[in-house]
Amino acid sequence: MADALRAVKGMNDILPPESARWEWFEDKVRALMRRYGYANVRTPIVEPTALFVRGLGEVTDIVEKEMYSFEDAMNGDRLTLRPENTAGVVRAMTEHSFLRDGGKRLFYIGPMFRHERPQKGRYRQFHQVGAEALGYAGPDVDAELILMGRALWRDLGLVEGRDVALELNSLGQADERVRHRAALIAHFEAHADRLDEDARRRLQSNPLRILDSKNAAMQPIIESAPKLLDFLGAESLAHFAGVRSALDAVGLAYRINPRLVRGLDYYNLTVFEWVTDRLGAQSAICAGGRYDPLIAQLGGKPAPAVGWGMGIERVLLLVQEAAIEVPIEPPCVYAVVPGPAAAPTAMRVCETLRAAGVSVLMHAAGEAGWGSLKAQFRRADASGARYALIFGDDELARGEVACKSLRDASAPQRTLALEAVAGWASELLA
Ligand code: ATP
Ligand code: MG
Repeated sequence: MADALRAVKGMNDILPPESARWEWFEDKVRALMRRYGYANVRTPIVEPTALFVRGLGEVTDIVEKEMYSFEDAMNGDRLTLRPENTAGVVRAMTEHSFLRDGGKRLFYIGPMFRHERPQKGRYRQFHQVGAEALGYAGPDVDAELILMGRALWRDLGLVEGRDVALELNSLGQADERVRHRAALIAHFEAHADRLDEDARRRLQSNPLRILDSKNAAMQPIIESAPKLLDFLGAESLAHFAGVRSALDAVGLAYRINPRLVRGLDYYNLTVFEWVTDRLGAQSAICAGGRYDPLIAQLGGKPAPAVGWGMGIERVLLLVQEAAIEVPIEPPCVYAVVPGPAAAPTAMRVCETLRAAGVSVLMHAAGEAGWGSLKAQFRRADASGARYALIFGDDELARGEVACKSLRDASAPQRTLALEAVAGWASELLA
């Protein structure tokens, strides 16, 4: 036998019954997006490498070391498997002049790719839900997007304060960050002996990222570093106050985290993260913020924008950690079919039920044939179905089918006329 092939490291198969949890989650997401008026967008998984280099910035974890980039052997194009989807959405909106008639509220669900060290909650192919509002200056829309996160946690059964918490910050505008940056470099230079290699490398290129460091030895000099919030001007502060008062008005608690800076270059003003302390080091489950400069940076007509991205694997791990029951819907009916002679009638009856909206699992022959009735009943039980319909020879000869409750042992078996099956279906659905 040939060697069995395996999936690429860090890229997972999502199989039943686990996949039912994903569908449950995605259903909640789609319902949420409908409630808030966000429309679905689907952009390609492969984009020109330049989109991410220009969009995310050269000195970011993603562009420096996490992208799956390759040359198209057919024509030499430089391509990348998308590591995130904000840049792709912005490209699509610009390419199709979508903002010509005003703002757009959009969402996506799909795989992203980053070449990281795989561990619990961190994979090389992972999945995100993202919501983006383009063409709105905020701060009302910033608050709306944050509140959508809270609404989703509630729909999933996650509890604010226990499972998830909101962190908030403002990155101000570029000129404010320039002044803060100078103060930051001066501060870290004064403590150069305490910086690790990563930080020393970032000192001139992206000192804000040093604040993001998880190196315990550097925490004291990070704590004492000048805070960006102290460098914001009146307009930026007013925007931040606008977001805060909207959240306060609906009673959403948050913590202001001056060290929340986001890994990507394109953010300004509002940044936020929903975090959990139940997943170890992988604490960020949803991260977002305003990225007003990005559309122009990617060649579009300047327009403000704000959005977030949520890691689906991490949310589902959290759902599991919080012991939230995910309803898995078994079939309503299992059709027991003694042999090939009964199969055409059974198939017709099953089709009638399905057309009426009843879920039906019809027994199918295996390599060893249809199997004994006993074996079929075992399968019917294991399927979780509420009823077994038994297409026995005697019943069929009378134009009937036997119906047995699989959940209520005391309920007597009954017979249904084949013509009465549609009526029984409406009884089941009532
Ligand atoms: P982290 O600090 O954990 O690396 P990040 O800042 O790189 O996260 P974002 O680029 O903001 O993450 O992506 C948004 C969300 O996507 C994260 O909050 C997280 O839930 C999820 N995510 C990011 N990278 C991965 C990954 N490799 N595997 C699984 N989920 C991920
Ligand atoms: Mg990362």
